[in-house]
Amino acid sequence: MITVQGKGVSAGVGIGPLYFYQRAKTTITRATDADPEAEWARFKGAQTAAIEQLGALAETARADAGDEAALLFETHQMMAEDLDYEEAVEALVRGQHLNAEAAVADTAARFAAMFAAMDDAYMQARAADVRDVSRRILRALTGTAEGGIDAPGPALVAADDLAPSETVQLDKAKILGFVTAGGSASSHTAILARTMGIPAVVGVGGALKPEFEGRTAIIDGTTGAVIIDPDDETRARMEKKREEQLRLQRLLESLKGQENVTKDGRTVRIYCNIAAPEDVPAVLAADGGGIGLFRSEFLYLGAAEAPGEEEQFLAYKRVLEAMDGREVIIRTCDIGADKNVGYFDLPKEENPALGLRGLRLCLAKPALFRTQLRALYRASAYGRLAIMLPMVTGVWEVREAKKLCEAAVAELKAEGIPIAEKVPLGIMIETPAAALMSDRLAAEVDFFSCGTNDLTQYTLACDRQNNDLGRFYDPHHPAVLRLLKLVADNAHRAGIWVGVCGELAADLEMTETFLALGIDELSVPPRSVLPLRNAVRMTDTRESAPRILADLAASRHRI
Ligand code: PEP
Ligand code: MG
Repeated sequence: MITVQGKGVSAGVGIGPLYFYQRAKTTITRATDADPEAEWARFKGAQTAAIEQLGALAETARADAGDEAALLFETHQMMAEDLDYEEAVEALVRGQHLNAEAAVADTAARFAAMFAAMDDAYMQARAADVRDVSRRILRALTGTAEGGIDAPGPALVAADDLAPSETVQLDKAKILGFVTAGGSASSHTAILARTMGIPAVVGVGGALKPEFEGRTAIIDGTTGAVIIDPDDETRARMEKKREEQLRLQRLLESLKGQENVTKDGRTVRIYCNIAAPEDVPAVLAADGGGIGLFRSEFLYLGAAEAPGEEEQFLAYKRVLEAMDGREVIIRTCDIGADKNVGYFDLPKEENPALGLRGLRLCLAKPALFRTQLRALYRASAYGRLAIMLPMVTGVWEVREAKKLCEAAVAELKAEGIPIAEKVPLGIMIETPAAALMSDRLAAEVDFFSCGTNDLTQYTLACDRQNNDLGRFYDPHHPAVLRLLKLVADNAHRAGIWVGVCGELAADLEMTETFLALGIDELSVPPRSVLPLRNAVRMTDTRESAPRILADLAASRHRI
């Protein structure tokens, strides 16, 4: 028996023979004196073929894994006809007389490197998408067939890495799980595996050896373990685990459409965190009650320049319309700290997490803020919008932001543009200053949402990016919990609601505590909605709340 370790990215246990994905090799010839017009025509032909194939794949994905998976291929279609991409190929074909294959291969390498160099993990994972789309165009250019696996029956699929199109083309009924040497949790293959409910482990590295081909294996998509030639005892244990997980999965499915209500009748809203309009289908599929945090800065991070008013308006409108009357809380641009864009040309900071980020940057660049506010208020006519300000430390910042909001509203009204009658304005509580001032801040806004990722970082003086800090970065620390209690009490005293939208909201160890504090809304990744609903429905606050509040008052929570 051999056990190797990767990263579990899609829960579940897969047991069966392991087969490697065989990718047909595309041979790329390189000519520097090609006929530009003939090569350009070849590229356009291959591009059209790729776009048609992606349309068909979108339909397969829709049938197998729903709208979210289909959207992936629709996004790939857009990438295949992206003007920047096309212009880069054209410059090489027409400008340098490269043949079409070499021009596509060079462009793919350049665009993928650009994505891979970005700070944000989501954008880094887009490098794989560019490569995938480009491989499809190259296959059309060279007449190479698609890959597959050579297994007699259902199998675990192994690969160095799998592109989303390769993943979806495999016969779902025959896949027991995915295991890849490379990949990340936010790669689209991981996302697809999760939506298809197929166990997956990525990042196994060189330990995933070709000699495992055809041998019996077990993968655990929760722990990331990959076991080759399991002994009888291990196999029996893992089969039992698989049964339990399937039972839990069935239970969670049965909770769709049910209320988030405790045994003693207390309710809490469960909303979702998203980074792009493309994430909305996952929210709807998970039965999320609304969007508690749309991290709008991702519109800026993925672009070569700041997105304009029209582009932002269309993105926000798309989310509001798709959410069909459910509440959508859009956070204004939280650029700075670990989320940076070159085009703002900001001076280098020694301590960027303590620097010009979030609302501070928006107040320092009012023209940029105005563009976003105009786009937001214009979009407000298309659904139930609320606006939320990040990185607040005091009252004057909020007052200044409110003035800019009022100015944007007045401008739009003067232009005769329709906007919603009421757009609630809230703030994130993610600095100790905001938590300590929450009595005064509550008088200024309509709601609070606690960003526990940053609140933990700033309260405990622990860089959230620094993995070496390990147990020092502890969102369960009593200092953080005391601040949350203070914020919840101050919010309720002022008659406004309070939510939590940091990672902690999805931590089921904390559900009873949030209910004891009277938290009104929890905003979590879509996949956490049903497990959280289950945890809420198992809670009886008559039993848990007095105990938790007494523990908190005495700081018996993990000191
Ligand atoms: C937070 O800080 O908890 C939060 C939700 O915002 P972000 O993670 O985007 O900084
Ligand atoms: Mg934050």
